[in-house]
Amino acid sequence: MKLAKHLLTLAAALLCGIAVQGQTTDSVDVIHYDVALDLSEFSPFSGVATLDMRLTRPCAKIGLELIGTVDSILVNGVAVAEPDIDSIGTASIAIGDTFTVTVYYHGRHNVESYGFGGFHFDNNMSYNLGVGFGTDPHPVGRAVFPCRDNFTDKATYTLHIKSHSGWTAECSGLPQSRSVDGEGCELSTWVIDQPVCTYLVGISQAAYNRYQTTAGGYPVTVGSTTLGTNTMQSVFELLDTVVPMFERCFGPYRWGRIGYIGTARGSMEHVNNIALAAQAMTSVFAEGQATIAHELGHAWFGNLVTCKEEGDMWINEGGASFTSEVAREATSGRKRANRYYQENLEKVILTTHITDGSYLPLHGMPHAITYGSTTYDKGWMVWHSLRGYLGEERFYAAVRQLMERCAFGNLDAYEIRDSLSLYSGVDLTEFFDFHVFNAGFVDYHVEATLSNSTNVSISVRQRTVGTDAVAHDNRVPIVFYNAAGDTCKRWVCFHGADTTISRMTLPIVPEYFVIDPNCEISDAATVGSVSTASGYDATEIAHFELRANSAEHNATYWVEHHYAPAFDIENVTGVVRPSNRYWVIRSSCPFNKGTEARFHYVRSGYSNSSTPDLDRGFYERSSTLDSMALLWRRTSREPWQVVTHRHTTDANDGYMLLDNLQTGEYTLAVIDSNLISITQACAVPVDAVLFPNPVRQGQPLSLEVPVEGTFETTVLDTSGKQVWHQSGCLNGLKIKPELPSGTYLVRIENNFISLQSKLIVL
Ligand SMILES: [Zn+2]
Repeated sequence: MKLAKHLLTLAAALLCGIAVQGQTTDSVDVIHYDVALDLSEFSPFSGVATLDMRLTRPCAKIGLELIGTVDSILVNGVAVAEPDIDSIGTASIAIGDTFTVTVYYHGRHNVESYGFGGFHFDNNMSYNLGVGFGTDPHPVGRAVFPCRDNFTDKATYTLHIKSHSGWTAECSGLPQSRSVDGEGCELSTWVIDQPVCTYLVGISQAAYNRYQTTAGGYPVTVGSTTLGTNTMQSVFELLDTVVPMFERCFGPYRWGRIGYIGTARGSMEHVNNIALAAQAMTSVFAEGQATIAHELGHAWFGNLVTCKEEGDMWINEGGASFTSEVAREATSGRKRANRYYQENLEKVILTTHITDGSYLPLHGMPHAITYGSTTYDKGWMVWHSLRGYLGEERFYAAVRQLMERCAFGNLDAYEIRDSLSLYSGVDLTEFFDFHVFNAGFVDYHVEATLSNSTNVSISVRQRTVGTDAVAHDNRVPIVFYNAAGDTCKRWVCFHGADTTISRMTLPIVPEYFVIDPNCEISDAATVGSVSTASGYDATEIAHFELRANSAEHNATYWVEHHYAPAFDIENVTGVVRPSNRYWVIRSSCPFNKGTEARFHYVRSGYSNSSTPDLDRGFYERSSTLDSMALLWRRTSREPWQVVTHRHTTDANDGYMLLDNLQTGEYTLAVIDSNLISITQACAVPVDAVLFPNPVRQGQPLSLEVPVEGTFETTVLDTSGKQVWHQSGCLNGLKIKPELPSGTYLVRIENNFISLQSKLIVL
């Protein structure tokens, strides 16, 4: 749906009006916190907090949250007789009026049972982590100062920190001043000028070793108690590339400066003062770099535009995880970023429903798993998929507009949907219905008829995993390849479960095609490619290997690995239990003699495997391996047939082995060998016809074979010795080999195909 321009402006104002008034359900809105903390004696510490607030609804009293002991409370400078943090009288205050509440208090080391959220006083460092996994509500600003702990009441802050003697502070905000008192304690002041939630205020003190630099024009401070400058310099070098990339993609960085501190426990996106798990800082390893990027990405996803309710945490966490992919793309290129993304996709499809208890929609996440894998990892998938769905340029333009118009506001999933629809001009209703408001995944099966011309016909079917719902308004990228390696991409867009396009005209004559080879959408499939060039190649992400030392042809193979049961397999006689996944091998070389193909299997729960859940529900007991077979069909118009039982000896984590690779669909199944037998499909297809057969000595016979172009015909006797040969044969040719009576094998081959048939000479 394209929206009219005047509607666009009107609706934009409306959406962001909603966005910045997220706190309408509360009776009070905190405008500013002034917090003075004396941390010089560690825990317990003392504090004075003055909150500037506005009453938004009539009420006689309000409550604040604090983990600590209240010494006294003043309202508009007047001491309250019996101070109670849960019940502060506001009867004399009119709606809309601003007033101040000052709280004198003591707090102490207080950390949730997960060991994460709260105020940590360790031997060498004091720091807070603003969110608790197991707390309710999740924000735990209250471990540090009295506040309104939620995701919508955003305020500005002034922080005054008295540090332990010889230590210095690192906090959220811009540093205003630092001095040292007569006892050697640092006194510092910090100002956060932008409205942020309580959970984003980070406070820390330690004997910091500081590394200071700039990135993208912003000052950067890194504080660590253990690392030297050289290590910090190499670990944070990625910011030079990542900050400009994030600004190009998501709009300006709004927070003035960038700061990280190393902590013993976990990482947390405090504004200007990101807490970073120590292990992420110790070396330049991929996971650590991803964490550095993820936390910085929160400067847009979460800190600037925040979920309105915890049940939409995917907006914050899925968005930040997506930014770590964007960072990988900036530092290492799209190919590596795709690999990183596909590893996440596989993890989500194989394990997230186990980790989180079931297949769950992103929206309305239950409290206990607010910070579960669905939120982070499936949330990432959906942001990634939106980029593919809208197209790179349109997506980033819409996200930048969202960040601009709804800056410092709150949105729920519906408002994200409507905002992005508006800013992109693409109606995202159906996309959100399936990917955000529903559980599960969609996988696409594409069959195309390529007729050696620029015209192709295509049919697309979908299969869903973890849901009975159907995805509508589908967009599936298909890339066609010709003999010279030229490509052209077409998006197949359709409503409903499937579609057929009887004629599509391309600028090239395609030899084959691949579904989404550039990983643009989050369908339930991974894709990789292998080549025969080096004799051995593997695509781990598609669970496939090639041993090609004796390969007849040099060729590249694309391998689609679909995490859904193959179509039509359940009705094959003799199939007792089909697997939950299938491969499609695509190439311009449809048959490659001497190329051993290896299809990965993993016994469920085998912990030494990198993917112990790959065959969960299909391959549970090692004895099953005896009845497991690999099935193949060249296209979905042909029947499935068993092509091999052969496998590596490892019953837990191994490969089904196939001698001569042929393009087409493959899947694993447990079969009943009494009902289905092995067909040497990849060496002896049934469709070579010699006529007549049997033939009398000296009589001609015709070759009726579905082979394009010329081919070689070879006749072998029962000992395998060649007894007759002719080159340059064509379909329909009559041959007249001089053969004594007996049984022979006729082999018909060219660069692309190898057929065999038994011949009886009478
Ligand atoms: Zn995060």
